[in-house]
Amino acid sequence: MAQRCGVCAHPRIGEIEERLHGPHNVSYLSREFSITRQSIQRHRANHLGRLELKERLDEAEPLPPQASAQDTFLASYLQSADVREALRDAGVTRATLRKWQEHDEGFALRYHQAEAETIEVLEAEARTRAIAGSKMIRRVYRQGHLYEEIHEYRPSDAMLVKLLQAHRPDKYGDKLAITQTTIVKAVDAEAWDAV
Ligand SMILES: [Zn+2]
Repeated sequence: MAQRCGVCAHPRIGEIEERLHGPHNVSYLSREFSITRQSIQRHRANHLGRLELKERLDEAEPLPPQASAQDTFLASYLQSADVREALRDAGVTRATLRKWQEHDEGFALRYHQAEAETIEVLEAEARTRAIAGSKMIRRVYRQGHLYEEIHEYRPSDAMLVKLLQAHRPDKYGDKLAITQTTIVKAVDAEAWDAV
């Protein structure tokens, strides 16, 4: 098993390496970074530059041609607002999505915009459901024939409360107080008047 190197494992390894590249005093570094002089010497002899090499390799590692998978992902995500479904459509894993976000600035920006748009769409839909209600269609059949089709809009109190909680958590946060019910009904009444 490889012996753990105190410098390689040090949270400030970048700084230490920078110092080791220039004129330096091992005893001084040892005190400053609280590592033994032996660790510093061993690291300097065996590991110095490994970090940069690794970084260069990471950067050099080309991203596989992902443009079309990214487009598929974003298009699907915009439509469904569902990350899981979009990943499935694009045929990529969550790990790939993270990699794109971390290493591909262009993608990260587009994803961010898509998220913002999606949230707006969801909020608008939630508002519609809360105030006007979602359309429900009931079909009544008699002897196998369509007899009646009833369209109704039912406002959702639950959705309204959720929206209020989201926008005014201080007021509607945890408590299910009587005032809340009152307000819900008041807003409902207004909504119905407006319809
Ligand atoms: Zn080391």
